[in-house]
Formats: sequence, structure tokens, C-alpha cells
Amino acid sequence: MSSYPFSPAALPYAQDALAPVISAQTVAFHYGKHLQAYINNLNAALPGSGFEGKSLEDIVKEAEGGIFNNAGQVLNHTLYFTQFKAAGSPSEPTGALAEAIARDFGSFEEFKAEFQKKGAGLFGSGWVWLASDAEGRLVITQESNAGNPVRRGLKPLLTFDVWEHAYYLDYQNRRPDHLAALWQIIDWDVVASRY
Ligand code: MN
Repeated sequence: MSSYPFSPAALPYAQDALAPVISAQTVAFHYGKHLQAYINNLNAALPGSGFEGKSLEDIVKEAEGGIFNNAGQVLNHTLYFTQFKAAGSPSEPTGALAEAIARDFGSFEEFKAEFQKKGAGLFGSGWVWLASDAEGRLVITQESNAGNPVRRGLKPLLTFDVWEHAYYLDYQNRRPDHLAALWQIIDWDVVASRY
């Protein structure tokens, strides 16, 4: 997914491996249909735009309008789908990331509570993010629609998708229950590698 034409990142797990936290049906639609549509739209919009040879992250930082919306959703979903691992063996942060979470949020439990609260409280469609600044300080940001913390000069580490398409088949209107369940499938080695 380095530059145009973009293609979906391979899932590092089987489509049914995240169940029951995220069903195989939701992965099939969310990864197979929604993400693919954003990629198709982005690839169709890039020729002649001046963004053809740029990296996805640079497009998200610089573009506006439809190119920004689709590029943002490609970057967001790529970070989202590659941060999970098969259900059944929940993990926790370790090393420098664990120390930073304790320093900046008090504890891992307090961080999770704040992250879920900001995800549940985000009005409409969007994303809640754990991101780091240039000094390694951690922040939680709420981004509407296709927003990504790279637009604020921050490094995105972890994200929960709060668009209804991410959870409606499995949880209907119960967004908070979906967010609370997602911790079971976070691959903290992947998140730490982004820090
Ligand atoms: Mn989504």
C-alpha cells in the first residue's frame, strides 16, 4: 500500500478468527466491501490529481475533499485491520509503551476506560485513536468521519472504528459493548511496533 495504485493490506488472521468479538460476516463486509470501496474510489480519483506518486500518509496529510476522505479511510482501516489477532489469548502492552500508558493515563485500566468513553461519546461516524507526539507522550483523540491523527502531526498507534458499519451486524446499537469487547483481540506487539 505504499503508493498508487493502492490495494488492501493482507489480513494477518483468518476472517473468522476474531469471532465472537467481530464476526466473520462483519469482517467480510467491512474488509471485503467497505475498505475495498474506499480503495477503488481513491485509485479512481488519483490520476491527474497531483497525488499519484505520494505515500498514503502524505495524501492523508495534504489532500482535501473526496481524495482526503477516501485516503483517510484507507489508512484508517489499514491500521485498524492489522492491529488485531485471533480471539482467545488477550494480551496487554509491554515495554516502553506500557510504561508510557502508566505515565500518561495512570494505569492500563484507566487508559482503557478513557478510550472506551471517548469512543462511545463520539457523535456520529468516526474513529477514536491512541496517538503519540514527537516526545512520545500519549494522547487519545476523537476524529470525525475519515479523520486521522497524522493531520495533527501525531503518530497513530491504535484505533477503534465507531462507524456503525464496524459493529451493527454483531452489536446493533450497542456501540459501548462492542468497544469493551475489542480489547480481547488487540495485538499489543503490533501497536507497540508503531510507537
Ligand atoms: Mn470502517
